[in-house]
Amino acid sequence: MKKTVAIILAAGKGTRMGAQVAKQYLEVDGRPLLYYTIKAFEESNIDEIVLVVGKGEEGYCKEKVADRYAFTKISHIVEGGKERYNSVYEGLKVAGECSYVLIHDGARPCLTSELINETLQEVKEKKACVVGMPVKDTIKVIDSRGQVVDTPERSTLMITQTPQAFDYSLIMQAYKKLFTTEDINVTDDAMVVETMLEQKVFMVKGDYQNIKVTTPEDLVVVRQFLKYVE
Ligand code: C5P
Repeated sequence: MKKTVAIILAAGKGTRMGAQVAKQYLEVDGRPLLYYTIKAFEESNIDEIVLVVGKGEEGYCKEKVADRYAFTKISHIVEGGKERYNSVYEGLKVAGECSYVLIHDGARPCLTSELINETLQEVKEKKACVVGMPVKDTIKVIDSRGQVVDTPERSTLMITQTPQAFDYSLIMQAYKKLFTTEDINVTDDAMVVETMLEQKVFMVKGDYQNIKVTTPEDLVVVRQFLKYVE
């Protein structure tokens, strides 16, 4: 049986947070955000964890997070790339031959091990699936002048979260093809599979608490959600 691997992305600069420290290292209750993210995977059915970090942050991350909290499933800590998709590809390369891979934003520290296990279960059947939730607000499509050009039917819209889970050879094939194209414009991994291959992607019910820390107010909410995590 080949192993299952989680790729945790923590190579973003997090400039929208306006903080000195990269957002994944900001502390909640004395522990870096990344600790909470890794902990959920450590306690799940995933076999191995690959951490993708910023340039020159490998040693810092090993000392301040991996070793400090004695995580046992981290197999590699590698340097990411300029864009999120570059970081994902670096993670995929070191993950090596495995059965399924779960790609997760390190900046989403409130996910649960249960959600990880459900996603893992689902991908074994569907080959490509992403975690998401129904949108709560009405979404408008606008043009460059800010004029509304469309209002899609709300019941058909989902916000997309991570983890995004794939059969390993499938996602590798999609990413390899992506890098042969010009003007790459993808914002998540499912989009790489949707646009590069014929493969259908399915949605798994996520969790409204699984938010991504992007701007300072997100941290206020996340502190509340993480209050009871040890
Ligand atoms: O920038 P954004 O919030 O969309 O990033 C989502 C996740 O991807 C974050 O956890 C961030 O650290 C990661 N990322 C990365 N490499 C990049 C850009 C973002 O690993 N070049």
